[in-house]
Amino acid sequence: MCGAHDNITAAYEGFSAELIAAGLLIPTGAASVYGYNGVFEDVIERFDALVSHAGAALKPEVMRFTPLLTRENYLRTDHLETFPNLMGSVHSFLGTEKELPELIRKRQQREGWADDLGPTAVMLTPAVCYPLYPTATGTLPPQGRLVDLRGFVFRHEPSADPARLQMFRMHEFVRLGTPDQALDHRNYWLKKGEEILQSVGLDVKPVVANDPFFGRGGRVMAATQREQHLKYELIVPVASAEKPTAVASSNYHMDHFGHSFDIKSSDGEVAHSACVGFGLERIALALFKTHGYVPAQWPHSVRQAMSL
Ligand code: ATP
Ligand code: ZN
Repeated sequence: MCGAHDNITAAYEGFSAELIAAGLLIPTGAASVYGYNGVFEDVIERFDALVSHAGAALKPEVMRFTPLLTRENYLRTDHLETFPNLMGSVHSFLGTEKELPELIRKRQQREGWADDLGPTAVMLTPAVCYPLYPTATGTLPPQGRLVDLRGFVFRHEPSADPARLQMFRMHEFVRLGTPDQALDHRNYWLKKGEEILQSVGLDVKPVVANDPFFGRGGRVMAATQREQHLKYELIVPVASAEKPTAVASSNYHMDHFGHSFDIKSSDGEVAHSACVGFGLERIALALFKTHGYVPAQWPHSVRQAMSL
């Protein structure tokens, strides 16, 4: 057990060291927070173009949000109850000029200056679909809605694994509508996602998955989610062959968000939803692991598929 753990940690550290040496990742001093060079970014953008292209065939609405969510909308979800350890809250100095010298004194004396900060109106977004739901309150059109979202999200999960980041880009397609529309979307994208990833030489496998709900109550929720086959991930070896990584997920939420945000389908029932999410940094890392650190030397078919 301990040996397996050591092997995996060694694989994570070896892979990050190679990516840094190749110039692809730029360390920042914080675990799981990197900068990326132009080669890495080009791979992200070209892969993302394949995803956008596949989605565009379905004529989605395109929406882009910043990685911020109002505190009020955050609290309409159950993220605080189910993923408290992953949350990111934005704080600032909310005091008066008279209180500033005390903040400066604490900072200079290396005391707990952050204790003097207060919560702003915003939280960091944990998934790119979160800012959509509050805008969808009300009744959906008969055909439901399909939305293309992309952006950075935050999850407080520092790790030695370069594929487990604290801030990363997700490209999602979200379906709001009837249970059938949502479930069809989940299944369509599981297949389509597999096709897109196979087309760039990633031999992904679909597996039943669960969200990483917190604590003992969370284990029960995770078991229920798995039993009901609500969420699937496409996994492929990235840093470690022993422990493949999820590069995309397709998840049927049932009426979870419809209920929280008072979204109804045109028949008056609480709307159901599903989303597929492509983890763009993870996919780029999987490509570098599989094909090497120099895209010009990748297999012809992969370069052609990605217009590299
Ligand atoms: P994992 O089981 O690996 O923690 P997850 O279940 O938390 O993944 P989702 O919430 O389904 O993942 O997020 C959608 C996609 O975002 C994942 O399939 C993955 O590609 C990517 N992703 C999730 N967490 C991270 C992370 N910490 N760093 C980079 N990419 C991530
Ligand atoms: Zn996760």
